[in-house]
Amino acid sequence: MEKITDTIESIYEILGRVTDPEVHVLTILDLGIVRNVALKDDELIVTITSTYTGCPAMDMIAANIRMELAAAGYKNVRIEQSIRPAWTTDWMSEAGKEKLKEYGIAPPDKRFTIPEDGVGCPRCGSNNTRLVSEFGSTACKALYQCRDCHEPFDFFKCH
Ligand SMILES: [Zn+2]
Repeated sequence: MEKITDTIESIYEILGRVTDPEVHVLTILDLGIVRNVALKDDELIVTITSTYTGCPAMDMIAANIRMELAAAGYKNVRIEQSIRPAWTTDWMSEAGKEKLKEYGIAPPDKRFTIPEDGVGCPRCGSNNTRLVSEFGSTACKALYQCRDCHEPFDFFKCH
């Protein structure tokens, strides 16, 4: 019989294929929203934390987790949503932050929540940027524009 630690490890590998429906380059492991994986009898329990209160993407993420696990043969899956402690951008992996930047989204920066200006432009690296709207393409992001290359870009808001 397979050891339980191997099983949990392989489940994490499967979860690493589930991406954020809003930012496809990020997996849910990059986001750090998977808090726990447990096997209880023949039930698999995956605990996730929402990145943003009422984030509509969470239902889609839960559905995608079910789909990936079902494809790997895990049918009896329970997804629990944990509210506390609240997700913070600290849980995002460094690799995830790099991927965000390559994708053209300014990664979260602990120094500010929604800064007026000074966020690094993910395209040209300039700090000569301005806040356009506190709400970008989704509620989880704010919209900025670079004064140097004039490109608009999203900034992943800190929590
Ligand atoms: Zn720029």
